[in-house]
Amino acid sequence: MKCFKCERKAVIELQNGPYCKEHFFYQLEEKITKTIKKYHLIDIEDKVCVATSGGKDSLTVLYFTNLFCKERNIPIFALMIDEGILGYRNKTKEDLELFCKNFDIELHTASFKEVFGKTLDELSPVAYEKFGKKPCTICGVFRRVLLNVYARKLGATKLVTGHNQDDESQAFIMNVIQGHQKQNAALGPMAGLNDNEKYVRRIKPLYFVSEKESRVFCLLKNFKVDFAECPYITQSYRADIRDAINTLEEKYPATKSGIIKSFLEIMPELKQKYNSSNNNPDNSVKDNPNNKFKYCERCNEPCSGDVCNACKIIEELDCTPISKEILESKKSKQHKHT
Ligand code: SF4
Repeated sequence: MKCFKCERKAVIELQNGPYCKEHFFYQLEEKITKTIKKYHLIDIEDKVCVATSGGKDSLTVLYFTNLFCKERNIPIFALMIDEGILGYRNKTKEDLELFCKNFDIELHTASFKEVFGKTLDELSPVAYEKFGKKPCTICGVFRRVLLNVYARKLGATKLVTGHNQDDESQAFIMNVIQGHQKQNAALGPMAGLNDNEKYVRRIKPLYFVSEKESRVFCLLKNFKVDFAECPYITQSYRADIRDAINTLEEKYPATKSGIIKSFLEIMPELKQKYNSSNNNPDNSVKDNPNNKFKYCERCNEPCSGDVCNACKIIEELDCTPISKEILESKKSKQHKHT
């Protein structure tokens, strides 16, 4: 197969045709830069924190966000949360450390063990046995709160995640099936519904990039990356949705981009609807008739009810509460987009 833009050998076939290595790299950078600019994801006065695990998507997003920021003198650093998943996270952590060293990127880490006193491997069996909670539920809640409080503590004004087209189409379909339209309102290239002084806005430069593209990109760039999946993924609902969408994509190409296109069409209305009825930024709230942010009575982080999900899990599983020193750090001034 030859590249449809030149006569060179193709390395990947995308929806609009086969690409050689050079044209693939070019279209990827162009697509990511266009997403950042179109959705006003990064401003010249931002300080950018890239949430990264060392996997293919997070290395891809770190690579391109680093390029974008360094070309414009925008401060950037990487943040990794180590959940404590033996045989998995320790490997991706090594890859990430090497990557950050090679590209001269400041790397910060925080771990479940040092903050909550226990690793995910230690928490998972008890959580399931006592409360029927799956590892991804614990992991998602703890990781989300740690990314926010550490990004804030380190002065970030934007928090980049490696969510790609596959992740976003899965999330949208999951929410539709479960009837969680409010969670759908918080999706999109700029996540959440509005700003809050304690919440670092999450952005997704890989919104239009497929998982296949980030895998091929990492391979062609010879990044040291472990393509193995987290051992807990098979226990999640998301894995079933992912497999179903992948089967559809194989049979009916452009299924994923079609899902994303459909979501983007209704996104403004969804955001407007839930923005006016509920100001919770991470959209974890089901109903907040007061139209105001609520804060957890234990940790004082934004939350839906009186006590946030992280504090509930901390109590159930007898973990150490997040220290005041981390929680009390103030977010840097949020800059307006240009
Ligand atoms: Fe955490 Fe689940 Fe993702 Fe593993 S698959 S890193 S347990 S959310």
